[in-house]
Amino acid sequence: MGKMIYLDNAATTKTAPEVVEAMLPYFSENYGNPSSIYEIAGRSKEAITEAREQIAKVLGANSRDIYFTAGGSESDNWALKAAFEAYSSKGNHIITTKIEHHAILHTCEYLEKRGAKITYLDVDQNGIVKMEELEKAITPETILISIMFANNEIGSIQPVREIGMLAREHGILFHTDAVQAFGQVPIDVDALNIDMLSSSAHKINGPKGIGFLYIRKGVKIRSFIHGGAQERKRRAGTENVPGIVGYGVAAARAAETMEERTGKEAELRDYMIRRILEEVPYTRLNGDPKKRLPNNINISFQFIEGESLLIMLDMEGIAASSGSACTSGSLDPSHVLLAIGLPHEIAHGSLRLTLSEETTKEDADFVIEKIKEIVARLRSMSPLYEDHMKKLAKASGK
Ligand SMILES: *Cc1c(COP(=O)(O)O)cnc(C)c1O
Repeated sequence: MGKMIYLDNAATTKTAPEVVEAMLPYFSENYGNPSSIYEIAGRSKEAITEAREQIAKVLGANSRDIYFTAGGSESDNWALKAAFEAYSSKGNHIITTKIEHHAILHTCEYLEKRGAKITYLDVDQNGIVKMEELEKAITPETILISIMFANNEIGSIQPVREIGMLAREHGILFHTDAVQAFGQVPIDVDALNIDMLSSSAHKINGPKGIGFLYIRKGVKIRSFIHGGAQERKRRAGTENVPGIVGYGVAAARAAETMEERTGKEAELRDYMIRRILEEVPYTRLNGDPKKRLPNNINISFQFIEGESLLIMLDMEGIAASSGSACTSGSLDPSHVLLAIGLPHEIAHGSLRLTLSEETTKEDADFVIEKIKEIVARLRSMSPLYEDHMKKLAKASGK
């Protein structure tokens, strides 16, 4: 096989070589349990402290408020389930959106069975929450607003500052799933009034299976995993020391390179979007053209199946994702694409390309050419496209 072009960085990223290198000694030499008292244990403990500080710095947070977890899904589960329990004397109402990751949506469904009342806000056609609707949804029973920072499918970045202000005015906790945003856009938890924030290392060139939940001091969240006294007694279990070390390095690296890296990605993103929309007929961009993650492209191609497009791109060595995220054999189109108002048949023909710092202009040009070829080929086999063309011919013939 020739070169692979990996354009699925919203699904996961390559672990950066310096991250792997920083992790290695914590497998081979410094393998002590951080809770023990001898010297090599002390080295693990120090490494965790350093990583916690590296991460806190990126958020303008106090390192005491960073709690390591096994990833974004665990952080989301913890924030919602524990807030629901801890604030049950105040109320049972949670506000979220229709475009959240399943780690939030499925947790909400679980909580509904246990007596929670959940409002799933609509978003506008660009995938942005409407502030008036959020404000209207607040009741005296509302204990939590959980709205993602940036969407993993269409890249839309939410008005987090306004949401934080509104939550603060009403004395409601604000949690944000920032798995796609952390390390990609500047975040300051104080300036944005964020009370809880979820993140995951493997989305920012860190290792898989390690994440954190930021919990602002004063938020009454109890432990989620019971056992030992790790993570200030709030998340038991021997720490994933190599993972934590790798996460710290990945976070510091993402912050250091953010401006230049995301500037370059956004330029390439806009170049690809412009060319695809101009050179392939019957296409549309999903998500906000401006308030958008620097590396996200999500385009619908009328008259074709996203899955067929993916398979044919794979044969050309291009790794991408269907915008429709039909995981585990489900044929339902993406809940996100439906929430922005796409009809089923258009949602099915969607493609998500998420770039990395390694994506080059040559890669972009190659991918665009392949997309043009493949879309034309698939349409030439599509009865829907044929019908459409016949109708056009008839209309112009009259
Ligand atoms: C990837 C992702 C998650 C899940 O994170 P894991 O670490 O894979 O559990 C949650 N939310 C969003 C927005 C994501 O993109």
